Amino acid sequence: MPPHEFYIRFWGVRGGYPAPHSSLVGGHTPCVEVGVAGRRLILDAGLGIIPLGRQSRPSPEEPFVLLLTHLHRDHIEGLGFFAPIRYPDAHLVIYGPAPPEGSLEEFLRAQFSPPLFPLPWDENSARRDVIEIHDGGTLLWEPDTPLPQYVPPDAVAPSDHDIVLVRIMHSWAHPQGVFLFRVEWNGRAFVYATDVEGYVGADQQLIHFAHKADVIVHDAQYTMAEYTDPVRCRQGWGHSTPEMAIEVAQAASIPCVILFHHDPQHDDDFLLAMEAEAQQRFPATFVAREQMMLALTASGTVEHLAVP
Ligand SMILES: [Zn+2]
Ligand SMILES: [Zn+2]
Repeated sequence: MPPHEFYIRFWGVRGGYPAPHSSLVGGHTPCVEVGVAGRRLILDAGLGIIPLGRQSRPSPEEPFVLLLTHLHRDHIEGLGFFAPIRYPDAHLVIYGPAPPEGSLEEFLRAQFSPPLFPLPWDENSARRDVIEIHDGGTLLWEPDTPLPQYVPPDAVAPSDHDIVLVRIMHSWAHPQGVFLFRVEWNGRAFVYATDVEGYVGADQQLIHFAHKADVIVHDAQYTMAEYTDPVRCRQGWGHSTPEMAIEVAQAASIPCVILFHHDPQHDDDFLLAMEAEAQQRFPATFVAREQMMLALTASGTVEHLAVP
């Protein structure tokens, strides 16, 4: 049973590399599940996709729809250990960016090649389709269909309340670029903006893209003190602070912010202190935690759900 008609569940919330010391916030690299109107999306294939895979029952009628924001290791490193990829009755559809050279499928195949990885891509049993996406493209998912349809940027995507839309924006606010996703259904919207660095005066393109979403997941890897540290300055590394995340939310009229892509060196106490400080600035700000689950309700509120 889906826990809610529009929910977000966090399976991995760390950036860069895993942080196994954290029991409350969790240590897996990025993976977020979005369930909407009976359809399910998996955003990023960091290590969090491994426990997600263990809890999933593959079926050829219900493909796994995976969207990759970019190809940095922390966003793809869980895929080889995602159990369904080895099941003959599973079907994975992977949407993501074209790498600088070659195709996305060739890139993934290379990640699965010995000696880097023991089991070659072609020896996994699941059916796989790999589809490259582009800035301004849309995934359009009609009711009672097993898969979304990719609508390229120059085509017009129809809008209908029963259709789940995933709008795609490409951003250069991260080394080599990153895709941001906006999931819309029935007047509700969720924005996933990980691996982005804030701009002076806030990221206006992101503010436009995220306008009036109900909730935004935004990169907040560093405190402002770390970001501006003169000895080990993190400017230009492609990540944000809670202040930058909140600035985007306020400018885009988004009532709820989830701080995401936590630095692996930040322990639970550090992150809870960061959350409390951010809440002074913007009360509906929360640090993403593994197994945290949010519901976007019909009345436009965001509720914390108990994990089933
Ligand atoms: Zn990352
Ligand atoms: Zn990255």
